[in-house]
Amino acid sequence: MSGCWRIILRAPAELSDEVVLSRDWWGKMLPLFFASRLEALEPIEADVFSVGKRVAGAYHNGRVFLVGDAAHITNTRGGMNMNCGIHDAWALGARLAAVWRNEAPLEAAYACAEARRRVALEQLIPRTDRSVVGGGAWLEQVRALAADQAASRAYLIETSMLDMAERP
Ligand SMILES: Cc1cc2nc3c(=O)[nH]c(=O)nc-3n(C[C@H](O)[C@H](O)[C@H](O)COP(=O)(O)OP(=O)(O)OC[C@H]3O[C@@H](n4cnc5c(N)ncnc54)[C@H](O)[C@@H]3O)c2cc1C
Repeated sequence: MSGCWRIILRAPAELSDEVVLSRDWWGKMLPLFFASRLEALEPIEADVFSVGKRVAGAYHNGRVFLVGDAAHITNTRGGMNMNCGIHDAWALGARLAAVWRNEAPLEAAYACAEARRRVALEQLIPRTDRSVVGGGAWLEQVRALAADQAASRAYLIETSMLDMAERP
C-alpha cells in the first residue's frame, strides 16, 4: 500500500484476538514469509477480522434501511463487498431523495432495497465464491476468454461490477 505494507496472516480460530495481536504471535509468523531482519518492525495498525458470508433477511423495515456491511458480508478475498455497498447507497440515496421531495412514494425506496438484496444474493455472493476458489481452472478460463473479444468484454464488465450497479 502507499507508504507501508499490508500483511494478512491467517490465525487459528482457537486463538483469542489478544493473543494474535501480540508481538509474541505475529513476531513468530513473519519470518516464515520474509527473509529480512524484522526486529525493528513497528506496526502502524493491527486488527483482527473474520471471513463470513451473510445477507440480511430484509433490507428495510418501515423507514429504516440497510446498506453496505449491515446488509451483506462476503469473503474479503473477493474484493467486492465495499463496492457493492457503495452501489447500494447510490441507488437507495437517489430513491430516498425522490421520496423526500415528494416525487416518489416510499414504496419506490422499498422496491430499490429489495432489488439491492437480490443483487447481493444472485450476483455478489456467487461471484465472490467463484473468485475465492480461483486456482488453475480459473486461470485457464481467463486465458480462453482472451481469445474471444465479446466474451472478454462481458468478463471485464462483470469483474468491474458494472452490471451490479444501477445506471445513472
Ligand atoms: C481486510 C479487508 C479487505 C477488504 N478488501 C476489500 C476490497 O478490496 N474491496 C471491497 O469492495 N471491499 C473490501 N473489504 C470490505 C470493506 O472493507 C467493507 O465492505 C466496507 O468497509 C463496509 O463499509 P460500511 O460503511 O458498510 O461498514 P463499516 O465500514 O463497518 O462502517 C460502519 C461504521 O458504523 C460504525 N458503527 C457501528 N455501530 C454503530 C452505532 N451503534 N452507532 C454509531 N456508529 C456505529 C462503525 O464504527 C463503523 O465506523 C475488505 C474488508 C477487509 C476486512
